[in-house]
Amino acid sequence: MLFRQIPAGGDRNFAYWIGDEATREAAIVDPSYAPERVWTEAQAERLAVRYVISTHSHPDHIAGNDFFLERTQAVEVMHESAPRAARRRVKDNEDLPLGNLRLRFLHTPGHIPDHVCVLAEGKLLTGDILFVGKIGGTGPNFPGSDPRAQWESLQRLMRLDPATEVWPGHDYGAAPSSTIGREITANPFLLCKTFEEFLHLKANWAEYKKLHQIR
Ligand SMILES: [Zn+2]
Repeated sequence: MLFRQIPAGGDRNFAYWIGDEATREAAIVDPSYAPERVWTEAQAERLAVRYVISTHSHPDHIAGNDFFLERTQAVEVMHESAPRAARRRVKDNEDLPLGNLRLRFLHTPGHIPDHVCVLAEGKLLTGDILFVGKIGGTGPNFPGSDPRAQWESLQRLMRLDPATEVWPGHDYGAAPSSTIGREITANPFLLCKTFEEFLHLKANWAEYKKLHQIR
């Protein structure tokens, strides 16, 4: 599998592409504010863009979608609950073929109802549900967000193979990627034993960060 993480401007956004080495078919994920750069890199690899996938409908993630829809035959892919009229709308646990690869979509609401993670050959693109050492925001700044759904989505991701690689939607952590196993033992939010403890940490995150010298 061909795979690349690309810094995409905005709020340290990450764009990605996933490609099948044999057929040179590719999916772009969250091209964000760097569609030209993603496009140039994909062309250098002689990739044909089949899909433009959004982990969720926040503007910083979908900003670069139209660039690809205007220039390629790519089909836009989003969760079925997304407010944008994506041509392909996916459900939880649905697979999408990409050459010889299969992309698996996991519906992971909490930060926003239409959030999906994309799993391809042991790599999990976690968008804004799980960052390295951190998690996505909820509250009044994030319409439709729901801490309980976020907790349940995170518990679900923790049940994946610990070797699963975590590739987040923003460069907010100490490293640009991680694994489920590492996050289970190091991410303060995944170390919470109960939902109440989780809520308490979210409410006191600023102090926690200061106390533990987390940037
Ligand atoms: Zn977001």
